[in-house]
Amino acid sequence: MVIESIPKAVGMAFAVLVSLLVVMLLLRGKFNRRIGLVLLVASTLMGFLVFAPMLPNQFQVLLLGKTRQLGVPVALAAVVLFLFVAMAFVLGRSFCGYACPIGAVQELVYKLPGKKLTLHSKKITQAFRLVSLAAFLVLTLVFSLGMLNYLGVHDFFYLDFTWYFPVFLAIVVLAVFLYRPFCRLVCPYGTILSLAAIKGVFKLRRNDNCNECGECELVCPTSEAGATDLKQECYLCHRCVEACKRNAISYGRSKM
Ligand code: SF4
Ligand code: SF4
Repeated sequence: MVIESIPKAVGMAFAVLVSLLVVMLLLRGKFNRRIGLVLLVASTLMGFLVFAPMLPNQFQVLLLGKTRQLGVPVALAAVVLFLFVAMAFVLGRSFCGYACPIGAVQELVYKLPGKKLTLHSKKITQAFRLVSLAAFLVLTLVFSLGMLNYLGVHDFFYLDFTWYFPVFLAIVVLAVFLYRPFCRLVCPYGTILSLAAIKGVFKLRRNDNCNECGECELVCPTSEAGATDLKQECYLCHRCVEACKRNAISYGRSKM
């Protein structure tokens, strides 16, 4: 289904525009989950039609040195990959939240009804993803193997029904019940973005209207809505903002 004649650079430009649009709307208090839904559908379609902006995959291809598979000049891929790390450092994870097709498809299916599972320990999920990142780096740099290919990312979005297709399909089915399992446990690029986001300058934060009722913490799927949480796993999903009856959460410069 991927239309190879559409340049991958189109997907990268799309990612920049979507990420900045989300931030701009959040800053103005104009973002809502309906706008988010439109962006998530658009990003998912980009994944199936262009296989871009697929930055975790581009990161892997770059490390493997298979530069012909990038679909863009090496310098451009490197700049874009670095740009989103810098953006996570300043603005949080708007790329993961709305522009990445892998994240978008998981976010969409999590909206389906069904019993939701919770990963209670952030320490365990963070340890798991650091181990995943280490495994990814060893596989790519030492053994020249693409971990994301074995997880079926490429074959899923290409609708290529190989042995690896059901692996990512299973991850998507799991994402109906567990919020973004690929992003939170496996994605190597997302792990780097999450580390950058710890020091994010702009974050969703509470203001003086907060009476600590805890409603926002009840709806946050990543346990990042607490007043002192670092927001490294905040996908700007807006659930906390919309759960707050006192208009006490807004996106702005962090006090932390
Ligand atoms: S964590 Fe990885 S897969 Fe998930 S949205 Fe971010 S870059 Fe995409
Ligand atoms: S509910 Fe959690 S993940 Fe979603 S925007 Fe709020 S803090 Fe971030």
